Amino acid sequence: MKITLLILFLIAVIAGGLYVNKNPVKMDLSTLMPFSQITPTVKKKSVGTGEKNLTNPPQACSGTQLPAATEGPYYKSGTPLRKKIDDGISGNKLTLQGYVLDTNCRPVANAWLDFWQADGTGKYDNTGFKLRGHQFTDAEGKYALETIIPGEYPGRTPHVHAKVKARENSPELTVQLFIPGVEKNQNDGIFNKELLMNITESQNGKAGTFNFIINTNL
Ligand code: FE
Repeated sequence: MKITLLILFLIAVIAGGLYVNKNPVKMDLSTLMPFSQITPTVKKKSVGTGEKNLTNPPQACSGTQLPAATEGPYYKSGTPLRKKIDDGISGNKLTLQGYVLDTNCRPVANAWLDFWQADGTGKYDNTGFKLRGHQFTDAEGKYALETIIPGEYPGRTPHVHAKVKARENSPELTVQLFIPGVEKNQNDGIFNKELLMNITESQNGKAGTFNFIINTNL
């Protein structure tokens, strides 16, 4: 009798187990705590999402110097010291910011940057200094530029020219910064995807980020 009851009990347990396996409990994932709240110390490392607060370098950094791009025919030395180069110029606002970093991805304080570009119709100011200006990175290696989205001109996709050097007597690196998603990028021999800015929409036009990686040992 006892053996019969034991066998019946075992059958009931096995059958119950099979029933549970065929009907797994479905979890309501919406009630789970967000991952970010479980691990509040985890920080995003990537740059390029248009964050306004870029005070925690190193940000995105390849560890190798950026590829150079030709200076072109419209560079002028002796530009004004200023971060806002679009005074008196109408166009689609672009606020660009980022860091100058060395190849160990350390910020380079007091680095020199010189920017120049065409206006929204693709024209350069070759008599004055509209849309031209130089500046220096702050103690955190950060720069910021207020300008407009440059226009196309014959043969060229839109671009912002820049020169950067770590110190007064350091070699200059000359690059051109490009805009993601522009069709003409594909047909421009100077275009380089390593020189693409990250651009997002902001309340005041476009917000861009870009880090200049330079070899300070040259
Ligand atoms: Fe140009």
